[in-house]
Amino acid sequence: MPPVNAPYRPEGLTARPLHARVDPDAVAHNLARLRKALPASGAAPRLWATVKADAYGHGVRRILPALRGADGLAVLHLDEARACRRMGWQGPVLVYGGLYSPADALLLDASGLHLVITHAAQLEWLAQAPLSQRPAVWLRYAGDIHHTGFAAQAYRAAYEAASAMSRRGLIGEVGHLNHYARADEPGGVDGADALFRDVIAGLPGPVSTSNSAALLKHGARAADTQWVRPGLALYGASPFADTSAAQLELRPAMSLHSQLVGIQRVPAGAGVGYGGAFTVQQAMDVGIVTCGYADGYPRHAPTGTPVIVDGVRTRLLGRVSMDMMAVDLGPVPHACIGAPVTLWGAGGLAVEEVAASAGTIAADLLTGLSARVPVQLADAH
Ligand SMILES: *Cc1c(COP(=O)(O)O)cnc(C)c1O
Repeated sequence: MPPVNAPYRPEGLTARPLHARVDPDAVAHNLARLRKALPASGAAPRLWATVKADAYGHGVRRILPALRGADGLAVLHLDEARACRRMGWQGPVLVYGGLYSPADALLLDASGLHLVITHAAQLEWLAQAPLSQRPAVWLRYAGDIHHTGFAAQAYRAAYEAASAMSRRGLIGEVGHLNHYARADEPGGVDGADALFRDVIAGLPGPVSTSNSAALLKHGARAADTQWVRPGLALYGASPFADTSAAQLELRPAMSLHSQLVGIQRVPAGAGVGYGGAFTVQQAMDVGIVTCGYADGYPRHAPTGTPVIVDGVRTRLLGRVSMDMMAVDLGPVPHACIGAPVTLWGAGGLAVEEVAASAGTIAADLLTGLSARVPVQLADAH
């Protein structure tokens, strides 16, 4: 019989031991850290805390108190902006996705909204809508990412249309927004910023260019703008392949925890998991962890992906299944059923490391945490 040491579960916790822990203090720490990355010459840029995708999976409601020190929130769409208002946020809200249809103008019913404008029809929709509030607008340059926004040759016409609307009192201030394709790469910002500066040369209005990577590695350029827009780094993950969050003095705001729920003695030659993707060379103890891809753990994480069992770093074995995964108990021979398991975000195991092993990025795992995983606040018991 495998050894069992399943802890007594206090009231209030769910039956399944898998849970995520979200630490609002870490978000507050990271916000302060990002402010410090901006050179203190002249007026420091204001900071939009990017909380799209429900605060990168952490839950806007949970972390909102930690963002009191932000100058504004940035979201994807207007429903999210209105939700922030309902949660009591009174500062400005920037909407990256802007308007998807003329009907969206009906959702412009709150003050302090800033809309990113990405094509000319959106200005028409605004001009024709009976607006009770005047949103500020930010014209997005297509930049080097070419997702949305105006090409260089269309930018000035868009600016003239928007500033005419602003003079007529239809909208508020007109700003200039760029988003880099390669801010995480060395030299990924300088050329792109120079091109953007050419496009907006001589045009009045505030400027915003920097996500987490640009802010952290190109502080001087970020400091030369009026607003920065970090997301990922607020949640304590590094945007860089070669610099860890710890090196950047960022603290992870989400950790994912579970327990061993089974131990199997697997004989030599036998397989572990679907498809027998891992074959046992010599008889070994395999631990079963209740966490799978339906929880948001990446199914493509291969054998060798780090996992912490009972405080000891070990590795995933074989294919991740919907509800569980197998781990190597070789380094933790004394582990019992009920032993604590950390999947990411604590014990020195960064979510970036798990993501890299699975061929993806931290933001993919954080935003992918599934709704079936209960979330505790770090200071709750
Ligand atoms: C998501 C997003 C950000 C934040 O990016 P991070 O890399 O997470 O810091 C900033 N600006 C725009 C336009 C975005 O879509």
